[in-house]
Amino acid sequence: MNRLLRYVALTLLILLLFAAAAFGGANERAKYVFLFIGDGMGEAQVEAAELYSVASGNGPLALRGLAVRGKISTRSANAAVTDSAAAGTALATGFKTNNGVLGMDPSGAKKLPTVAEVARDRGMKVGVVTSVFLNDATPAAFYAARPSRTDFYEIGVQMVESGFDYFAGGGVNRRAGRKGDLKDVYDLAREKGYRVLRTRAELAAARPGTKIIAAASVGGALPYETDRPTGSPSLAEFTKRGIELLDNPDGFFMMVEGGRIDWACHRNDAAAAVRDVLAFDAAVKEALAFARARPNDTLIVVLADHETGGMRVDAERAAANFFPALSAQRESSESFDEKLERFRKGTARTFERMAPLLAECFGLRAPSPAERAALEARAKKGDGAARTALLLALSEEELDELRTAFAQSMRAKEQRKRDRDYLRRYGPYEPLSTTATRILNRKAGIEWSSFAHTGVDVPVFAQGAGAPLFAGEYDNTDVAGKLFSLIAPSQGAGTAGAR
Ligand SMILES: [Zn+2]
Repeated sequence: MNRLLRYVALTLLILLLFAAAAFGGANERAKYVFLFIGDGMGEAQVEAAELYSVASGNGPLALRGLAVRGKISTRSANAAVTDSAAAGTALATGFKTNNGVLGMDPSGAKKLPTVAEVARDRGMKVGVVTSVFLNDATPAAFYAARPSRTDFYEIGVQMVESGFDYFAGGGVNRRAGRKGDLKDVYDLAREKGYRVLRTRAELAAARPGTKIIAAASVGGALPYETDRPTGSPSLAEFTKRGIELLDNPDGFFMMVEGGRIDWACHRNDAAAAVRDVLAFDAAVKEALAFARARPNDTLIVVLADHETGGMRVDAERAAANFFPALSAQRESSESFDEKLERFRKGTARTFERMAPLLAECFGLRAPSPAERAALEARAKKGDGAARTALLLALSEEELDELRTAFAQSMRAKEQRKRDRDYLRRYGPYEPLSTTATRILNRKAGIEWSSFAHTGVDVPVFAQGAGAPLFAGEYDNTDVAGKLFSLIAPSQGAGTAGAR
């Protein structure tokens, strides 16, 4: 009996200790905070990137190795399916707002304080890094307050007024206003003491202590990872440089967005999406490398703002075909659009003349019956290259799909009949590019259900100081409360668990 009592007491004690560890000490503080946001990165996008990474010999994703797992719901104040402005606002402030609204309540009247601003006011340095433009919705949710996410100029001005230490990514969209007649945001930035860096060499030479805007592109986004020229900086490079420039005894908060994952998923382009998840994961690795020396002071949270495209991975099909199919795609469907545009302006615009381009960019070919028979014979003997060629060989139905799309893509945009069927097949994108990626994706074992965002829950991964707070299922607004409580422990309780 005595022994049993002792056993029960000991078990209770252990459970209590576990509970205390799980909920974190009340006054725990994270000094170096990383928030990674994969825009549009649902469970399927993570799974697909992992399949690709493992198959290419690079092992599992770093972000999947983070010890703590959670899941967040994503609806906005006025819709079951959020946009990036409302989702970014929820993550950054802890409040739900309407789609399209940035950093303000649904009425667009009240500004909401963000975790990045609280970090700044606590004396931490702040960095905002993205693969899209610097005043796009997700990065802007951390420094701007506007009734509309398309107020790009005003958002750019607020970026400069934030006093944050490091901005890096594409560039500033509409930096002289809609009509191009307003004072350039970069000039305003220089007046506020920022250095505006346009090249990789300038960024490499930058020294800590200066406020920096590193804009690698003229107003737009960084290239898709799959199209990135070797001279152009990667998301990981911007993250690594940010860490070096922000590192200081008072700590820092850094938000890093993989923004192009979303753009690729809108286009249902799995190869581009997967490679951008890998570029995002490479940025997470930079944070992990930093955390190794300061494990008790560093928090790394990786999550998504919503899912895009309704992506699904058919595990059975994907097991053998995923990598051979997706690795056959050489460039993004967006980059293929440019080839298509040039082709449209040329002469002899036949499908037969387009076929070599489809083979070059997507690996899709239509072998003759004799060629197919020869491939089948070789594949039977275990020839891997022949097996891949058969996987990528176009069936009659697939050729029909491509011919129909080709005919649409050869018409001037105004002359296309955008009826229901057209929009269901191609969305707002180039019919031929969309059809080629869809066929390739199907061969890989990937299906899409939409060209838009979806309302499914998205994953959370965390590690380090306060990470256990991020376990379990909760709402996207709870993320900010948890971050507030770790950045500013004394004032955290009041804001935690906001609507
Ligand atoms: Zn989107």
